[in-house]
Amino acid sequence: MYKKLLLALLITGSLNPVIAQETPDANVIQQIRREGLEHSKVMEHAFWLTDVNGPRLANSPGLKRAEEWAVNTLKTMGLQNAHLEPWGEFGRGWEIERCYVAMKSPYYQALIATPKAWSGSTNGEIKAEVVLIKADTTVIKQMGSKLAGKIVIFDTKTQLEPNYTPDATRFTDQELKRLDSLPPLKKSSAEYIARIRATQKRLTQLLYEQKVALVLDLARGDDGTVFTSSPRAFGLDDGPMPAELEVSSEHYLRIVRLIKSGRKVELEADVRTKFITDDPKGYNVIAEIPGTDPKLKKEVVMLGAHLDSWHAATGATDNAAGCAVMMEVVRIIKTLDLKPRRTIRIALWSSEEEGLWGSKGYVANHFGDVTTMKLKPEQANISAYYNLDNGTGRLRGIFAQQNVAVRPIFDEWLKPFHDLGATTTTLRNTGSTDHISFDDIGIPGFQFIQDRVEYFSRTHHSNQDTYDRLVADDLKQAATIVASFVYNTAQRDQKLPRKPLIKK
Ligand SMILES: [Zn+2]
Repeated sequence: MYKKLLLALLITGSLNPVIAQETPDANVIQQIRREGLEHSKVMEHAFWLTDVNGPRLANSPGLKRAEEWAVNTLKTMGLQNAHLEPWGEFGRGWEIERCYVAMKSPYYQALIATPKAWSGSTNGEIKAEVVLIKADTTVIKQMGSKLAGKIVIFDTKTQLEPNYTPDATRFTDQELKRLDSLPPLKKSSAEYIARIRATQKRLTQLLYEQKVALVLDLARGDDGTVFTSSPRAFGLDDGPMPAELEVSSEHYLRIVRLIKSGRKVELEADVRTKFITDDPKGYNVIAEIPGTDPKLKKEVVMLGAHLDSWHAATGATDNAAGCAVMMEVVRIIKTLDLKPRRTIRIALWSSEEEGLWGSKGYVANHFGDVTTMKLKPEQANISAYYNLDNGTGRLRGIFAQQNVAVRPIFDEWLKPFHDLGATTTTLRNTGSTDHISFDDIGIPGFQFIQDRVEYFSRTHHSNQDTYDRLVADDLKQAATIVASFVYNTAQRDQKLPRKPLIKK
């Protein structure tokens, strides 16, 4: 074709190669919308994952229950090759068997508190005085045996302020547009986090050596919300530790004020935690819808979310929501019998919360070594990986993860969902969850833009992360859009374009 004419046609849009190739099959999109929006089972998956299976901390019995349920449910949906696949060694599981704590004097008050993950137990039922100390190893060493048998609380300058911002917000059009002009996100420093953890660990070990009966720590959060954490090296056995509770800020600060005013505060408590050592391996749930195109079926479109959670609630928004949506995606595709050209593979990861261990292990086993960038043959066969892990909020678009070539494709794929509020492809990257494991090894890995519905303000890693926080219409919308993206990726003549590989 004559060069100038081609240019003119491209400019006027009458011959746009991207649009020509990328317009999704309207008939299939219509079917996906009907199944996903009108016959959804997403809340049923979420109910099983949260209320029925319970908290799903890495290698805990709750996670085992959820993994087994997910494998069986995916089998029932008609997926092939549904199984638990070990990704490597995690170490010890842990769960709470009992947690009772109340103030006994100067008057009775039941306390909102939860054990830190992998913390120890009290020596049966205890009743003891609370001692206010500085969180400082020198101070603790000086106090020595005075702390034996006591309950320890750390001094703090924290004062609660009223909350003037809403817990749940939805992106405005302007905010969505602005996402593009924000600088790319930097990775958080693993060394910094490791240093903080090491300091905390030294402090807690010292308290154990001084034979304290129980340690109280100020929970992040207010309004009775306790954002949980762990003082431990997760699955590793790093020696005996005392029972440690994160106490809701309102209750914690009251105890601190009473002690500072010279009043004696006594608590009674019974905290029993259990370490699980029978199987140190970690597992991912894997299942497939086999491809039907003789040439393309060896290629794979992956989708996933992490199945593990923290322990103080049932991990509904983090991340039963993502798992329920991804399971619903494969249910929709299977129920409609869409016969994808490429194979579709769902993965529900474990130990994401401790640092993406499940997905990193899977990537190392299948695709290559990120430290050397020595790739395995399977790496070339994965077209894309789609992830969901930012709560219950509806999808407003997708992060293209700085993949310039993929952006116009996603723009086209979002068009049938503009009416549902999903309009935006941003080049911006986003981090902190399992698509990074794929992005790091050169496989296009994506996470969707989600409305911030009570996520970082209320539910993320907190005792408030329950089924009640899930918004059914948002999850239905998410499953519908992800199903369409996964299907489009499976049908495309080419795999999705990749960013240039970063050689090490
Ligand atoms: Zn998460």
